[in-house]
Amino acid sequence: MTDILYMSKLYMPTLKEDPADAEIASHRLLLRAAMIRKTASGVYTFLPLGKKVLAKVENIVREEMDATGAQEIMMPALQPAELWHESGRWDDYGPELMRLSDRHDHGFCLGPTHEELITSLVRNELRSYKELPCSLYQIQVKFRDEIRPRFGLLRSREFIMKDAYSFHENQESLQETYDRMSVAYGRICERCGLEYRPVEADSGQIGGKVSTEFMALAEAGEAELVYCTCGYAADVEAGECKCTPTMYDVPFEKIATPGIHTIAELAEFLNIPESSTVKALAGKDEEGNIIALFIPGDHELNDIKADHGIGWFMLLSDEEMLEAGLVKGSMGPVGLPEGIRVIGDANLKNLPKWTVGANEDGFHIVGAELGKDFQIDEWMDLSTVKAGDACPECGLPLDGARGIEVSQVFQLGDKYSRTMEATYLDVNGKENYFIMGCYGVGVTRTLAAVVEQHNDEYGIIWPFAVAPAHVCVIPLTIGDQDVFPVAEQIATDLASLGLEVVIDDRKERPGVKFADADLIGWPLQITVGKRGLADGTVELKLRRTGEKRDVALDSLHDAFEAVCANIPEDPAFDAFDSLFA
Ligand code: ATP
Ligand code: MG
Repeated sequence: MTDILYMSKLYMPTLKEDPADAEIASHRLLLRAAMIRKTASGVYTFLPLGKKVLAKVENIVREEMDATGAQEIMMPALQPAELWHESGRWDDYGPELMRLSDRHDHGFCLGPTHEELITSLVRNELRSYKELPCSLYQIQVKFRDEIRPRFGLLRSREFIMKDAYSFHENQESLQETYDRMSVAYGRICERCGLEYRPVEADSGQIGGKVSTEFMALAEAGEAELVYCTCGYAADVEAGECKCTPTMYDVPFEKIATPGIHTIAELAEFLNIPESSTVKALAGKDEEGNIIALFIPGDHELNDIKADHGIGWFMLLSDEEMLEAGLVKGSMGPVGLPEGIRVIGDANLKNLPKWTVGANEDGFHIVGAELGKDFQIDEWMDLSTVKAGDACPECGLPLDGARGIEVSQVFQLGDKYSRTMEATYLDVNGKENYFIMGCYGVGVTRTLAAVVEQHNDEYGIIWPFAVAPAHVCVIPLTIGDQDVFPVAEQIATDLASLGLEVVIDDRKERPGVKFADADLIGWPLQITVGKRGLADGTVELKLRRTGEKRDVALDSLHDAFEAVCANIPEDPAFDAFDSLFA
């Protein structure tokens, strides 16, 4: 039996008004419902109710990790700089890495992730192929000095992550663990009550080649994804772009386009769709060689793809463009200065005539023939995919959605084991680099994503599995010798059945109690009042639907006993529905 929580003793300063700087539901409601408090920009304190939810999310994550065979450890947040120098990420990671030095001037960072630490941990002690595969995980605080901390727990500078790392002899073994982890990640989302989608992803700062992100679908999400009825889904950062530019079929002509510098202006001027124009971008590679990129006019350049395809890519500044003899707002492939590497988006390969800049301010060219009027040196996938583009797997038009990236799994290969010299002895006694995988769940971000998906105008609607408590018993009067003891008896009885129960024993008006109960979002409310008791009933309210029902006091125990006997292990969102059937 769990203890009953007495609300009068609970530290839960709920807020009646919306906090000024909270733009989205989860941020606003987690503050208002007294789950979290801001300590600094992107840094939060968890109050008692928030901590209870956090513990539940952590436990779901822990159970699912344990079920994969991974073992829990705890690494320090404070990491020596030497390890990051070894991997090369001290320089590569950028200003997001929180760097500091100790009193002896030794460099440290507050870990944004733990590949370096875990690799250094196992490299001397995980020695034999007999000990492989091996998966280790921790649930621990991470630090990232985000350029724009915002949306409360969704993008913070200090947050809790579950990070797991696996070590293997070969790719097959890695794939097996990667698949098992992916299943566990789906189950974590489901058990937390999240509507989610796994998507093809870019592996970003972490490195490696194969990666999947788990997106909780939400309008407030910062990530954009595309998906298809055939099952294909990708983060737009990573998804292949397949589109069909439409040809503006006119003879070659240089035309005056005074004051026109953007694709939108050009399309309007010529009265053609933006997909009939070609967008030009000027950049450079790591050696400073100038590169001209051409992409379909109705698409955006995908920096990540340009970076991957070219090795390293940066757009030119206005001054650099001038210096290179390029005309901003009127760049085109016809008559480019000598020595420029010219790369076209692969979708333009099939566009015979291009509408482009004339490399002269105030002029554009229509009907420029590919292969005749100009040449393209290389073709690459350069554009960011968007809804309406063709599915790279089946060709049907893609749909678009927004999501919150709650977790991601990566196949790292030997990226870290090679740079950090982490080897094991194989069956022939030969040293080999570990093949590695890594797997991260944003625990605090998951919590916020749950609120983002489950709320209404009155507050949070916690799924049963992660609610701070399951039931709130609300005695309408406290001093009254008839009402309060009955309410307390109900609370005790439900707790004895294994439910987590709070009782609102505060000397507050009923309106305040109802408002707080809705705001905090307990899945079920039981109101105990004088009038109901006169008829021998109490009122049940299901937070999720707002449905209310009077139930006879003497049938309450049996009804809840039945509920408790039937609570599915997971996902247990609808545990109380049967009471309203
Ligand atoms: P994002 O692209 O949103 O910045 P990321 O891809 O850099 O995230 P990972 O390195 O994949 O993040 O970290 C694993 C998980 O940690 C993410 O899927 C996310 O849930 C969580 N996470 C990352 N950054 C933050 C943050 N600033 N605040 C809260 N959670 C975060
Ligand atoms: Mg990620």
